[in-house]
Amino acid sequence: MHSRLCEADEASEPFTGVVADDRIAGLDDTMRSVARGIAWLGILVGICVAPLVFALMSTDRPGQGLRTDFSVALGFVGLALMGVEFALVARVKAIAVPFGTDALVDFHRQIGYAGLAFVLIHVALSADWGKLLSFAPADTPARVWFGTVAAAALVVLVVTSVWRRRWRLSYEVWQILHAVLAVVAVVAALVHVLLVNYYVDTTWKRVLWSLMAAAFVWSLVWVRLLRPLRIRRRPWTVERITPERDRTTVLTLHPAGHDGLRFEPGQFAWITVGRSPFSITAHPFSFCSSAEQEGSVEVAIKAAGDFSSGVMTVRPGTRVYVDGPHGVFSIDQYEGAGFCLIAGGVGIAPALSMLETLADRGDVRPVVLFAGNRNWNGVIFRDRVGGLAARLNLKVVHVLEQPPPDWTAETGYLDADILARHLPAGFRRFQFFACGPTPMLDAVEAALVRIGAPADRVHTEHFDWV
Ligand SMILES: Cc1cc2nc3c(=O)[nH]c(=O)nc-3n(C[C@H](O)[C@H](O)[C@H](O)COP(=O)(O)OP(=O)(O)OC[C@H]3O[C@@H](n4cnc5c(N)ncnc54)[C@H](O)[C@@H]3O)c2cc1C
Repeated sequence: MHSRLCEADEASEPFTGVVADDRIAGLDDTMRSVARGIAWLGILVGICVAPLVFALMSTDRPGQGLRTDFSVALGFVGLALMGVEFALVARVKAIAVPFGTDALVDFHRQIGYAGLAFVLIHVALSADWGKLLSFAPADTPARVWFGTVAAAALVVLVVTSVWRRRWRLSYEVWQILHAVLAVVAVVAALVHVLLVNYYVDTTWKRVLWSLMAAAFVWSLVWVRLLRPLRIRRRPWTVERITPERDRTTVLTLHPAGHDGLRFEPGQFAWITVGRSPFSITAHPFSFCSSAEQEGSVEVAIKAAGDFSSGVMTVRPGTRVYVDGPHGVFSIDQYEGAGFCLIAGGVGIAPALSMLETLADRGDVRPVVLFAGNRNWNGVIFRDRVGGLAARLNLKVVHVLEQPPPDWTAETGYLDADILARHLPAGFRRFQFFACGPTPMLDAVEAALVRIGAPADRVHTEHFDWV
């Protein structure tokens, strides 16, 4: 089995001319990306360690014992990690480029768990548990109250994120709760540190702490005030509403009074329909039109909940705000001798944008599109993709879970065998883009590893972040 899957060896590489250039360009991009990634990781470590240095440097007081000092150190690192959480989801493009939005969201989740662990151990080590039974609210110092509020907000924040689906908490409610609890946790923690006073007892330490607090406030002002203000100056209107298969609606958006935006095929934007750009709940959607098209852009929205179902009834002329482009899930970010696009359901949207763009550019590199769907009637954009085959060096492989009786092509779930059957020799020089539901992406990533696709050439976009 393994030898059959790996039979497309480098010796039979048919794209040699393109490959040499591609290798050099790809190496340059990789080096740049790695350097930026290392720089950002350095900044992350710096932010986590800085509060410890502030707290411990040149203190003229004696240590308070190993247990207390250790507990305080954990508390400081926990606080720093909470601050970092804001930066990770502040939609800062410079941070997203070396890691990818998916990885940042995952990192945000992991850092959240780590921050909570640090804070809980800090609480466990520093609380005076003996006084718990004789607890008197009026005698409890303000620093303890603020510390308790910060820790409690953090616990509720993490628990509601982990169990959002199980508790049937709508995404919108969760988003608002998440934003409010995060601010409460960080502000209460900062006040707690200032009130404890032991480690912020000199002017210069207070200045350093104020700078950190200011950076936090600045990220809030940027995300919630300045960016929405900028977006409000560049409104869009719904030009056309086109029903697609599988409860999907394509919105064609036209820039109102400005020249629109440039995006890379595969990127997404945060969209607000019929609401102010200041509303907390914007929704992410991938562009599905060609990046070469000037003016209007298209997004395909599949009915998944309140917002996406309501889009079916939107009227032409409705005001829309577009915050984008975002993300690095794009053929323009990674050079390849060809492309393997893997789409599950509405995950076809970014793939369609890539195909339309390649066609408009007259790009002759080989592309293999694997489209996994439940049944033939639900294959979104199958006509548009079919039409593109004449303009591209494109092979389309449909994989159906429930095929019609006369179906002779691939069936079941996309796996290593299906990939190996249809990818050409030399596919390891391709770039691989997979977008779809998480279980499918997990299976596809494992399948790509099995057939020998280089891990650094496999890129995924998850549509369900929480
Ligand atoms: C980078 C990215 C690109 C996407 N591109 C597309 C696309 O091209 N076409 C498409 O149909 N869908 C796309 N989605 C998914 C789409 O954002 C959600 O289906 C939509 O927001 C659902 O909102 P709702 O209120 O209708 O449903 P809800 O019931 O509120 O949510 C359904 C599920 O969608 C996800 N979701 C909801 N709101 C958000 C949000 N603000 N941010 C992240 N995830 C959310 C959650 O996992 C949630 O469980 C994309 C998601 C991401 C993260």
